[in-house]
Amino acid sequence: MKMNFMFLIVVSFVMALVVGIILGENATFFQPLGDLFLRLIMFIVVPLILSTIIVGITSAGNIKKLSRLGGKTILYYLGTSFVAIVIGLGAAFIFSPGTDTGITLDTEEFTATETTSFVSTLLNIIPTNPIEALSSGAILQVIFLAIFIGVGIISAGEKASTVQKFFEGLAEVMYKITGIVMKLVPIGIFGLLAPIVGTYGMSVLLPLLKVILAMVVASAFHVLIIYSIAVKTLGKMSPIKFLKGIYPAGIVAFTTASSSGTLPVTLKNTQENLGVSKETSSFVLPLGSTINMDGTAIYLGITVMFIAQYFGIDLTFTQLLTVALVATLSSIGAAGVPGAGLVMLTMVLASVNLPLEGIALVAGVDRILDMFRTSVNVVGDASACVVVDHSERTTNVVLDNKQSVS
Ligand code: ASP
Repeated sequence: MKMNFMFLIVVSFVMALVVGIILGENATFFQPLGDLFLRLIMFIVVPLILSTIIVGITSAGNIKKLSRLGGKTILYYLGTSFVAIVIGLGAAFIFSPGTDTGITLDTEEFTATETTSFVSTLLNIIPTNPIEALSSGAILQVIFLAIFIGVGIISAGEKASTVQKFFEGLAEVMYKITGIVMKLVPIGIFGLLAPIVGTYGMSVLLPLLKVILAMVVASAFHVLIIYSIAVKTLGKMSPIKFLKGIYPAGIVAFTTASSSGTLPVTLKNTQENLGVSKETSSFVLPLGSTINMDGTAIYLGITVMFIAQYFGIDLTFTQLLTVALVATLSSIGAAGVPGAGLVMLTMVLASVNLPLEGIALVAGVDRILDMFRTSVNVVGDASACVVVDHSERTTNVVLDNKQSVS
């Protein structure tokens, strides 16, 4: 059954490519199938994140263990994001996509998107009204709320056991609903991908082919080399098993361009195919779908260099370091939704005084780049899950041994 399902995913992916190429713009006929799937996924994501994070935290049981779990997760996320941006910068250096592009920028048409400052992005994580956070689907605020409810339940102890049981029940219900929605993944992939393949003409893609190529090569390198090394050395898992287990989530991420939207599939793949405990995955993954974006970091590295090259500006080492730091940090505040990376690009460009008009250069192909970066983002979250889960198991064995000795 599992094999059939994975096979179906690949078939629908290939069919979408073929149908998109043959039908061209007429492939938008299938868009409603994609929208149906997207709406269902968006419909489950808020209660799923809320309940799984709360359960992830309460099943850690105490604040000490929670801090350990959180510390490992954040450390891995920051570390891999930093490596990703260096790879992105490196790829742009090698491919030098910004030289001889033949593109003339129509600055008249350009309107810069308003950027919010880094401080207010961080402040916005705190919801002033928790109910509004849930109803508007502000994922970072929902995560904040879930973490606090979880910590509150642990601190209140026995008195909060009913609340704890409620969220455990809700999480189980959400897992079941996820299971039902997941049956539609192949249809969703087809409905989302065919129109994209059909509507993107070569005239849009060709001038930016080097940017796209740099993105593809850097993403493949990060997934195949960096994550393989990480899961092998830190997670003691064979990279083949890892990649085979997580690729359905990778494909869903590719077609939806949303890490938050892919979360239900990522949770299912890591638990069922990679054998990660529910306890770890329900904490690490919802958090990662918003704060960990290695693919976006790669994208920022490439596009910043591309824009600098286009305008003939040489970036100093300090500026490159600033790009790396601002990109790593701003990825924490960005939501796992389509196009979030483009907004982050504005912040990063501003931090090193590069012309914001440069955004207009990449905006046309952003959706294509978004597909690649979101896949990397999701596979990165899963790799963290494998690594942290292995480390937690080892720590628990050591602690158990210590206890039985004393
Ligand atoms: N679409 C990406 C994601 O959901 C975020 C981005 O735009 O970079 O992970």
